[in-house]
Amino acid sequence: MDLYADIMIDISHSKLDQTFQYRIPPELVGILEPGDVVELPFGNGNRLKKGYVLRISTALSCPPEKIKTIVRCVTELGGAQSKLITLALWMRDYYGSTTVQALRTVLPFRDKAAAKKKKSVRLAIDMEAAKKQLEELRKKHQTARARLLEALLEEPVLPQEVVTGTLRITQPVLRAMEQMGIIRCESEQVYRTPAVLEQLKMQMNAGNGSAQADLPGENSQSVTGFTLTREQQNAVNTICASLRGTERHTESMSQCKGNASRPGTNATAGTEFLIHGATGSGKTAVYMELIAETLRQGKQAILLIPEISLTYQNVVRFYHAFGDRISILHSRLSQAERYDQFERAKEGEIDVMIGPRSALFTPFESLGLIIIDEEHEPSYKSETTPRYDAREVARKRAALEGAILVLGSATPSLESYYAAKHGKSTLLTMNHRPTGGQLADVTIVDMRRELREGNSSILSRTLLEKIRLHLEQGQQCMLFLNRRGYAGFVSCRSCGHVMKCPHCDVSLSLHQGGRLVCHYCGYTERAVKKCPVCGSPFIGGFKAGTQQIEAVVAAAFPGVRVLRMDADTTRGKDGHAEILRAFGAHEADILIGTQMIVKGHDFPQVALVGALAADLSLNISDFRAAERTYQLLTQAAGRAGRGKIPGEVVIQTYMPEHYAITCSAAQTYEPFYEQEMSYRALSGYPPSGSLMSVHCASPDQERLAAAAGYLARFAGQLAEKYHAVVMGPADEAIAKMKDTYRMVFYIRHKDSKALTSMKNYMEQYIEMNSGFHDIMINFERQD
Ligand code: ADP
Ligand code: ZN
Ligand code: ZN
Repeated sequence: MDLYADIMIDISHSKLDQTFQYRIPPELVGILEPGDVVELPFGNGNRLKKGYVLRISTALSCPPEKIKTIVRCVTELGGAQSKLITLALWMRDYYGSTTVQALRTVLPFRDKAAAKKKKSVRLAIDMEAAKKQLEELRKKHQTARARLLEALLEEPVLPQEVVTGTLRITQPVLRAMEQMGIIRCESEQVYRTPAVLEQLKMQMNAGNGSAQADLPGENSQSVTGFTLTREQQNAVNTICASLRGTERHTESMSQCKGNASRPGTNATAGTEFLIHGATGSGKTAVYMELIAETLRQGKQAILLIPEISLTYQNVVRFYHAFGDRISILHSRLSQAERYDQFERAKEGEIDVMIGPRSALFTPFESLGLIIIDEEHEPSYKSETTPRYDAREVARKRAALEGAILVLGSATPSLESYYAAKHGKSTLLTMNHRPTGGQLADVTIVDMRRELREGNSSILSRTLLEKIRLHLEQGQQCMLFLNRRGYAGFVSCRSCGHVMKCPHCDVSLSLHQGGRLVCHYCGYTERAVKKCPVCGSPFIGGFKAGTQQIEAVVAAAFPGVRVLRMDADTTRGKDGHAEILRAFGAHEADILIGTQMIVKGHDFPQVALVGALAADLSLNISDFRAAERTYQLLTQAAGRAGRGKIPGEVVIQTYMPEHYAITCSAAQTYEPFYEQEMSYRALSGYPPSGSLMSVHCASPDQERLAAAAGYLARFAGQLAEKYHAVVMGPADEAIAKMKDTYRMVFYIRHKDSKALTSMKNYMEQYIEMNSGFHDIMINFERQD
């Protein structure tokens, strides 16, 4: 029986989602697997092309006389690559996308970004022979050739520019001399290095420091130069034991064909770790030790960190430890530069890649470790199709490669903590700051009371008083306005009541024309003039911005130096970094900003952090509202008291009794987790169940509504069979973007596998019905 392979030839055009069928030659039957790279005849020319094997089958999809045969398998040249292809196919099936979209997400592809080539001319014979040749050439008056040989006798390797430029040697002369065996023309790929690394390398070379840091041996000093704390050492020891373990379970390629299950469901203990480390507990030092151990074993490591934390200081820390073995990715690199970093990884030039979520796809030959820092960050979820979650994909990649996965956070996502509690990963806790700093002292201010007592300002009397005290002592303050996901919800300033959907337990958004709308189910009602709970007329949308706070501060403290960081002030290329630098250098007393200012920055002079409208994010229409709020407030509180000065935090809120507020104020995680889990379990939201959203968009509002309606109804029929729940369709939180209307509906089920099956049926249904052809539809996993 003949076997055939579906081959994907080109991924440089996102529109071309076409595969071609080829016959598998007898010698490759039973050997070839999906993910392998093969060479084959394509088109009219004689040249062989490379292609990726996606699927193997016995069914022929074209006339037998038309089918061509694969020439050879070249997998051994691209072991890392074929695992990445397997990963891409899994992503396609799990998240829903075309094959090309998935492959383009995972594989480095070149968009006309030809790598720079360094060309040179080398003397190919020994000195004596060269001298003889030179005499010959002079006798024959071949002056150009003689000129080149003369120069090569002085310098046996010359850059091509010198040869063709200064020496004025033409290509025919070069070719002739190469044919005579006198010289060799060489070209070497030159990969671009990110500018900041080039800069560091130059500084190191200038200062006699060796750029190539030696890896410390087993018993020598740590890579960080610190003596680790007991908690740090415990984390390092536990994970290192696992890194050294040889008999780890590697998921075989064939195991993940077709059926896309949630990764890690059968993970053996000891391959995944969650470091729950308080802010400032020294997680970075632990990561560095783990990376060092991985390199000692001849393997490579990937460290994912949110782009906003990829600061110059952080890069310097890693460069000092690992020298030229590291590279970084960030969004300001050009496509060619990114491509080059992946090539350098493939060539074995580097062993450590640091960057945001796309760094996960670095094609290392022998990946031993993936670390995801600040694992709770929403930026680990991709917003383009396939809408993947880097944590899940990392878990899958680690399983494919037999690598260890380490997640780290001061405020773990519910999903990761749930996994640790249920034995899917090992929990490691670090509570203490090695620098000895105490956790900050937190005060909760009830803003409803402020209003009752006659203060309608955005700053409470308590906060104003504390700012004054700290400024008098020459210390710095940060004022953080929580505006995450701000979407026009309506609340009562007298009692804190928020208008919510009676069906979904999320807040309603105020729309023009005075209607309140639920973005989950589409429920609407008229905007209210009086609070339905306490009757107060002070009910409406919240409208404060950072500029307004700046004005209030300037009026209260004349002459104080204020920096403001928000979307307006950071628009320039380095605006963000410049503001942080200036504040770090104490060029200002108060930093005012949105969530950007609370992320992992280390300012030892900051004594006071004020969180304004702390509960604003409790009201975003997202089942993760409480989790996001807890995370933001805990991270904000972690900014105070990083140095020698004891820290203080003031949280201003209209919901002082909400557990997200009280738990972040107490700086405890476990009680928050318990309360939040009981809410998730009650409503079936992740991680208690699985949730998938289906996003539909079109410039034609009527056709969109019809299509989303049809699809949701079809999903409803499936849901009956699968015992799933469909919610919606409704307008998205942003119902119209760039003249395109957007709608969404949700499907909930206990089991993520059922959602994969339902998605597959919906994909077929969409494919078959012409009514969906010009509607953009994509799926998003919410867990
Ligand atoms: P986290 O990422 O957990 O918030 P960091 O890794 O940034 O914390 O560490 C906080 C501070 O503690 C840093 O300034 C770091 O240099 C320092 N540090 C980390 N480990 C040690 C140690 N073992 N001894 C002394 N200082 C340490
Ligand atoms: Zn009220
Ligand atoms: Zn609703």
